[in-house]
Amino acid sequence: MTGPTGFSAASAAGQAPAPSRRVFTNRNLRMTSIAAMGFDMDHTLAVYDTDNFNRLCFELAIDRLVRDKGYPEAVRSVRWDPAAAIRGLLVDKRLGNLLKVDAHGHITRVRHGFRFLEKEERRNLYPRGRIRIGSGRYRIFDTLFDLPEGSLYASIIDLAEHGALDLGRSRRALFDDIRETVDTLHADGSLKSRIVADLDRYFLRDPDLVSTLRRHREVGTKLFLLTNSEADYTAAVMDHLVGGPRGSWEDLFDLVVCFARKPGFFVARGPGQPVPAGEIPRMPNLRGICYVGGDAFFLERKLGCRGDGILYWGDHTYGDILRSKQSVGWRTAMIVPEVEEEIEALTPLAGRRRELAAVEELLEELVLEQDHLAAAGADQGVREDLERRLGEALGQRARLQRQLRAVLNPHWESLFREGRAASRFGRQIMEFSCIYTSRVSNLLKYPADKFFARPVEVLPHERWGLPER
Ligand code: IMP
Ligand code: MG
Repeated sequence: MTGPTGFSAASAAGQAPAPSRRVFTNRNLRMTSIAAMGFDMDHTLAVYDTDNFNRLCFELAIDRLVRDKGYPEAVRSVRWDPAAAIRGLLVDKRLGNLLKVDAHGHITRVRHGFRFLEKEERRNLYPRGRIRIGSGRYRIFDTLFDLPEGSLYASIIDLAEHGALDLGRSRRALFDDIRETVDTLHADGSLKSRIVADLDRYFLRDPDLVSTLRRHREVGTKLFLLTNSEADYTAAVMDHLVGGPRGSWEDLFDLVVCFARKPGFFVARGPGQPVPAGEIPRMPNLRGICYVGGDAFFLERKLGCRGDGILYWGDHTYGDILRSKQSVGWRTAMIVPEVEEEIEALTPLAGRRRELAAVEELLEELVLEQDHLAAAGADQGVREDLERRLGEALGQRARLQRQLRAVLNPHWESLFREGRAASRFGRQIMEFSCIYTSRVSNLLKYPADKFFARPVEVLPHERWGLPER
């Protein structure tokens, strides 16, 4: 049952986690070896009502594009589409496309405005089928904050393609204008003042969040908050999420670092500045634990823990997860709310998924049989019969795949995969996060000293020999 907060009202403690609420393991993680646990705030501890937030960002950005950047009034006709973009997509600024890329760097889907390109067209535009992602031509959507830009870009490109708008600038300039506008909305307080004025509208309160944090403090783990948000915004949001008298949330942590400038925080050097007590009324800093800025070494010194004794929870693939793991060797836990959505959408179709697995297996066997028949020079009748069975199995596979995809994003389908391969985003989760889960409070379903053990990794040739099969 989902309550008015958008979260289940039942306590999470003591129940077996539903599949959509499990913690998934990429690398063995012994919670007893974790001396300090840190949390990003936005989209990690603080769960936004993404639709309300992204719609607001989208609408404010349109207004700014017309008012400040001289875009024609026609731009005001575009409508927010929550499904227009997913995390992990790339923007090709040169050609004005949104791209989905698989784990091997192959471009698998291309959307120009509202139109998906056919395979031929795709091949002509991207003859190598792969791209050099590091070049300035592409922007990657790493966080849920990026999605309004995807919807805006696709909608305005679509208007221009249909002659409803004279863009008067390149597609790269259009994206740069959108990016700069959204950046400013975040940085100049326009978005945040609207959010702080109506916190209930923009956040989902998780009834198990506070107990999750408390439980880990009680077993002696040090807790810290490490966020790029400004101190006053952090305090407003945390007050709202935790409740109680103003500033009570500070009691949950041993250290608070705001305006951290991640990912630079993990690579650059700079001391943190204490928040002067009383200067930011919502952040009283009564225990002297709240800082602005600094770097990872300063943080480790303050906490008296370092490297793989620290587990950091974040949502940003690059800024939170990749950099903290690669630059300072912290263990990483990634928050991926989309896991919950996809598992819940696919669970009612579990029977279909089993059928699909059986058809995949049958197809492999039929292809093997085809090779044997060809090598043995089998007669035509036998070969035709095999062709017919292959055709039927392929048809059945396509039907099942369509049924499964119909419950996912209508444009991009699964966030985590593309056909039989993982998506680039799915691969990054596997590579850079030690564990991942849909929300922080899922941890409460496990003992505080849990050993998260990774599943056995199976190579293609091992599938034929291992007992798991
Ligand atoms: P964190 O996830 O808690 O580290 O904080 C994310 C912060 O970055 C929030 O304060 C956001 O408003 C801010 N933010 C997100 N996207 C942008 C941007 O494009 N420009 C500037 N700030 C951003
Ligand atoms: Mg975040």
